[in-house]
Amino acid sequence: MRVAVPKEIGAGERRVALVPDSVGRLVAAGFEVAVEQHAGAAAGFPDAAYSAAGADVVSTDQLLAGAKVVVRVGRPAAEEVAELDPGTVLVGFLSPLTDAAGVERLAERGVVAFAMESIPRITRAQSMDALSSQSTVAGYKAVVAAADRLPRLFPLLMTAAGTVAPAKVVVLGAGVAGLQAIATARRLGAVVSGFDVRPAVREQVESLGASFLDLGVQGAETSGGYAAELSAEEQARQQAALEERIPEFDVVVTTALVPGRPAPKLIPASAVERMRPGSVIVDLAAETGGNCELTEPGLQVERAGVTILGFTDFAAHMPYHASQLYSRNVTALLLHLAPGGELALDFDDEITAGACVARPRVTV
Ligand code: NAD
Repeated sequence: MRVAVPKEIGAGERRVALVPDSVGRLVAAGFEVAVEQHAGAAAGFPDAAYSAAGADVVSTDQLLAGAKVVVRVGRPAAEEVAELDPGTVLVGFLSPLTDAAGVERLAERGVVAFAMESIPRITRAQSMDALSSQSTVAGYKAVVAAADRLPRLFPLLMTAAGTVAPAKVVVLGAGVAGLQAIATARRLGAVVSGFDVRPAVREQVESLGASFLDLGVQGAETSGGYAAELSAEEQARQQAALEERIPEFDVVVTTALVPGRPAPKLIPASAVERMRPGSVIVDLAAETGGNCELTEPGLQVERAGVTILGFTDFAAHMPYHASQLYSRNVTALLLHLAPGGELALDFDDEITAGACVARPRVTV
């Protein structure tokens, strides 16, 4: 079975869906792999490395010839979907909860589409969990970006010229990205606090050497381990508590998300206005509207002397390792869908059924 790997088309996207190491694994398992010329170049994987791993490096025109499966990072353009043969399997981040039209287009074309973000978060599917792998990279990169913008040092320094107090960092939303942000800020020497509405998180925050910020607000956890949305009254209480506490910090990293809902607004403009000049907010929830009222998705802006980063593609800013981890997730899914290199889709299987967001319609 032939797998095609296109060069990504999204603005600022530097990742690639398969890296040479995974190509080698798939070829050994019985797959054929075609890689579009320069597909991995921006992530640090040259064409020669793909050839050496056993891939056919081909021109854009040749990419889809004979391909049964297309694996990519981001959503395909409409023209690309029109070129897919009905029955082709497509794998990628397809935004099924927010891009109904894109998913409908795939279904109409007769594509069998698997969204990486829809893979059930069960133990058996951990190796395929691309939300976690990319959130890990984003959480790390968010803190490194904040440290770069902050006009202060992160660690405590005792020098002949005097003592420098450590930076104070708070991380709001301590899921996968948030916990990585806490760990990274700690490694850089900051004094770190964390907050989440899920009660179970306190222990995880503390185990990383951070303190739990008590805002007097607690939410529920759904059976999938996600946060349930707070009521309007609880959200108002959280905003008021944060307005009091936020000015204490030099850096705020926010990651709070509720699946399928706009990002909860945690930081009102009035809280930003009370922060010290030069402080930095990194809003990892920018793609779904942002946790901060003043975030502009995709941009770095300065408001009331505070730098606010609303980049929606932090993982793409660290493309080598983001691609390497994503590629392992995709490879695990391919080996699940096509053991031994032959497609065997079993829609009674929880992973296959859960990840599939479009299938050809059966006409009677
Ligand atoms: P997410 O990206 O959906 O959300 C990020 C965090 O924001 C969550 O921790 C959530 O509780 C928090 N949040 C939501 N509303 C908030 C608010 N108003 N204020 C503060 N925080 C708020 O979450 P995620 O990082 O994908 O992880 C969610 C859960 O799934 C975690 O418990 C994680 O351990 C679990 N998980 C399980 C598996 C698995 O079993 N395979 C894999 C990955 C994650």
